[in-house]
Amino acid sequence: MYLVVQGQLDMEGALTARDRVGIQDFVLLDETTETAFLSNLKKRFSEDLIYTYIGTLLVSVNPYKELDIYNKKQMDLYMGVNFFELPPHIYALADNAYHTMLTEFNNHFILISGESGAGKTEASKKILQYYAVSCPSTTLLDTVRDKMLMSNPVLEAFGNAKTLKNDNSSRFGKYMDIQFDSQGDAVGGHILNYLLEKSRVVHQNHGERNFHIFYQLVQGGEEDLLHQLGLERDCQHYNYLTQGECAIVSSINDKNDWKTVKNALNVINIDETDINHLFEIIASVLHLGNFHFESNSKGQAILNSNADLNYFSPQLLGVNAETLRKGLTFRWIEVKKDEVLSPFTTDHAIYARDALAKAVYGRTFTWLVNKINESMENTVSGRLKTVIGLLDIYGFEVFNLNSFEQFCINYCNEKLQQLFIQLTLKSEQEEYEAENIEWEPVQFFNNKIICDLVEERHRGIISILDEECLRPGDATDLTFLERLEEKMGSHPHFVTHRLADKMTRKTLERGDFRLLHYAGEVTYCVVGFLDKNNDLLYRNIKDVSLHVATQFKSSLLKLTEILMAKEAWYVRCLKSNESKQPGKFDEALIRHQVKYLGLMEHLRVRRAGFAYRRRYDVFLQRYKPLCPATWPHWRGEPADGVEVLVQHLGYLPHEYKMGRTKIFIRHARTLFATEDAFERCK
Ligand code: ADP
Ligand code: MG
Repeated sequence: MYLVVQGQLDMEGALTARDRVGIQDFVLLDETTETAFLSNLKKRFSEDLIYTYIGTLLVSVNPYKELDIYNKKQMDLYMGVNFFELPPHIYALADNAYHTMLTEFNNHFILISGESGAGKTEASKKILQYYAVSCPSTTLLDTVRDKMLMSNPVLEAFGNAKTLKNDNSSRFGKYMDIQFDSQGDAVGGHILNYLLEKSRVVHQNHGERNFHIFYQLVQGGEEDLLHQLGLERDCQHYNYLTQGECAIVSSINDKNDWKTVKNALNVINIDETDINHLFEIIASVLHLGNFHFESNSKGQAILNSNADLNYFSPQLLGVNAETLRKGLTFRWIEVKKDEVLSPFTTDHAIYARDALAKAVYGRTFTWLVNKINESMENTVSGRLKTVIGLLDIYGFEVFNLNSFEQFCINYCNEKLQQLFIQLTLKSEQEEYEAENIEWEPVQFFNNKIICDLVEERHRGIISILDEECLRPGDATDLTFLERLEEKMGSHPHFVTHRLADKMTRKTLERGDFRLLHYAGEVTYCVVGFLDKNNDLLYRNIKDVSLHVATQFKSSLLKLTEILMAKEAWYVRCLKSNESKQPGKFDEALIRHQVKYLGLMEHLRVRRAGFAYRRRYDVFLQRYKPLCPATWPHWRGEPADGVEVLVQHLGYLPHEYKMGRTKIFIRHARTLFATEDAFERCK
């Protein structure tokens, strides 16, 4: 049976097929050079074969066109089939994780990584669809599946936006647990969200948009709804929608998406009143963005008389019109133990307006995630057994201008790469050592040094940023940069403008610093770092002890803990070209990604190593019916029993090794053959 795929080389005439479609698992490639790797990838890509394995890791190249490989027929094909029997597919990986979970009763997660626009979100949607559509179902639970599926369009509407890299870029991180009972029924789901890019609500760079929902509402909203919300059917009317000068995007149909989102909100049981409130809030953000301020003779900000405060519902924003007006033009300060109102300048007023808009939107997003979680909650008590987690988090990002947001996003990607290294390259090699398996170590770049540079207590960039934010007096973005330069000056992954000049690299502006990330160099402009870290709405609240980056750091730490306790599966998404063109294979771009994602190192470890390992007792317990000497009981040491068992099954000496506590099996197909025999004898 394995000949279908693995045995291509052995079959007569198969060479032509192999030449045409390449090899489905890089582990079987003749050479492990980067050139051979890329040429295989390219060959497959030109045949619309976007998936290739490295062992059980799935490499995917974004085709930028619809492929007819995601239908129900394909799903059925992959259901319950051994990994290597069919062409590589995201469904195969999803299915393998699912069946391993069911047979081993443990938790899993699928880490989907790659840079912005590489296809992570699409991959995660396909996995979710696979579980929702293909897994066995009881009518009772159908609603849970629908809700899980429908959470996607809602969260994308409120959390995704067009960027220069991707017309549907996720501007928040998402980790979703899909909960299964022991029969394999999907019984519930739970989402954790990370760091929504709130600054996008009030500012968009050229060629980028605000979050989709604003355009959907303005263009798709029903006549009477718009009337009720006081909105014009014209994106150009709104400051918050026009800065990027691309309100209309050819690949996006806001009107249709509006209908999808409305329907999805119904499916996830958000009631009419809440839905109305939701859009009142979205509308009030748009109104807020149109507030202008004039300066009186004393230089104090005055709200433009056109500003219509009627559309701000006191119930929703928690303030009445007058308080809002005051809040935007004055602030309370303490003078000799008395609180007095001090007028804002227009700059300050705009600042306060934007801070409010961001905070309102951010809280609305959190509310929405909570609502979705409530609706997907597993209500079938006592039946929850295991979970598969799906991690789809914003990819590594480099723009011409990179700010605090990119700093957080790229730091997150460093952490995930570190997790990947720990779980695969490092732990894999350590395990061979611990098990006394002969091993030639494979060199790899460990990005821990960059994670430390960012997050180390008292010394990392985040700590220095926090210190600067808390320092009373004259702290500014530039003093923060000075502190960084003082403390990091000689770090091999940190470059200041002075050093940049010396190193004759691209020179740096005075307000910039550069980090040499694992995925490449990124130059960050410090402007706004302090404010964004402070998340300014809270500036006057004295007892706030954590700031933004630190909060993010600890939520990433928590996430890492969640993931470390599970069995990992990887999907590595590659971006095929920068211009989003179908079928274009930009070799240099892909080579770069293959390099920094560590795929070559992973391949070398995989090739030199063993695809599967099982503890002796577990292995013996499962497969003992396959051999008369071990069935029904083996009286000696489990390791000896396993040796007898695999001899009986005809394992060849180079196909496995006996470690201290586990058996190591070189190729997955060997284990699968055993598994097949087991299924047959049941
Ligand atoms: P990421 O989440 O990595 O930033 P997305 O998953 O949003 O990227 O993908 C960006 C775009 O690329 C999608 O909107 C879609 O047009 C295209 N794309 C991604 N994966 C696929 C795929 N498997 N098949 C077809 N098009 C895809
Ligand atoms: Mg995405």
